[in-house]
Amino acid sequence: MFENLQERLGAILNGLTGRGALSEADVSAALREVRRALIEADVALDVVRSFTDRVREKAVGATVLKSVKPGQMVVKIVHDELVEMLGSEGETISLNAPAPVVIMMVGLQGSGKTTTTAKIAKRLTDRQGKKVLMASLDTRRPAAQEQLKQLGEQTGIATLPIIPEQLPTDIARRAVQAAKLGGYDVVILDTAGRTHIDEPLMVEMADIKKVSSPHEILLVADSLTGQDAVNLARNFDDRVGITGIVLTRMDGDGRGGAALSMRAVTGKPIKLIGTGEKMDALEEFHPRRVADRILG
Ligand code: GDP
Repeated sequence: MFENLQERLGAILNGLTGRGALSEADVSAALREVRRALIEADVALDVVRSFTDRVREKAVGATVLKSVKPGQMVVKIVHDELVEMLGSEGETISLNAPAPVVIMMVGLQGSGKTTTTAKIAKRLTDRQGKKVLMASLDTRRPAAQEQLKQLGEQTGIATLPIIPEQLPTDIARRAVQAAKLGGYDVVILDTAGRTHIDEPLMVEMADIKKVSSPHEILLVADSLTGQDAVNLARNFDDRVGITGIVLTRMDGDGRGGAALSMRAVTGKPIKLIGTGEKMDALEEFHPRRVADRILG
């Protein structure tokens, strides 16, 4: 019926011009549309609720300026609040630690972890001139270590030689040691995923963290993850303690509601977004752009 939120809110509120302030009833009617837009964008339900509560607080009683339509004003309040909740512009991977800086990648199987590992390694090499070593700790999926090796060959980034049957924690130790001996600036550990979160996965991640002392622990998550985004982020953050999030498949059709859900439950920054299968399809996260996309 209406193309976007601005039009929907305009239809509800624009008749109010001249009344001075937004009433509780006006705001409630507008928030029904906001809620609908967020749910369509796949934002988790409890995050939708806390978000609309925040907007309600700002909007009720707000004076409607003569120069703007009430619908536009509410859209602006919603947009500003969304940008604020999504976090700040220009978050980057921190390398502010003694070399070799350890970056641990975590996430579910198929989220794009291995691809993102190679993309980040390439970015640090190309843009910051860093010497990067990558290591696959995925001993569950037979082809996983080989997959990272191939991406290494494709991008010209070094990978830790594969020793069959070695345990993930032993590979982690060996990777850090090899990075030290080889004079690497950064070592990126690509851990194993599962199709869903389970206890052995969390134990394995905690063990790897213990032996490798990562400076960054990045949760790689598919931006098309809907209501599960909250559980996913909360579990990894509670059990392993993430330092940031990388959202993949932002080139897809999704509206990116997972960004808001994950940021809201963990408070951790979204550091990068994946925008394709190619090795250079990795971009900075821009809260404003994602807010526009979520609002449709
Ligand atoms: P892992 O199991 O988490 O290591 O996932 P992979 O790195 O193997 O990625 C699974 C698939 O998703 C591969 O076909 C990747 O090329 C693809 N992929 C990863 N990131 C992106 C992205 O940002 N956009 C798109 N379109 N595909 C991606």
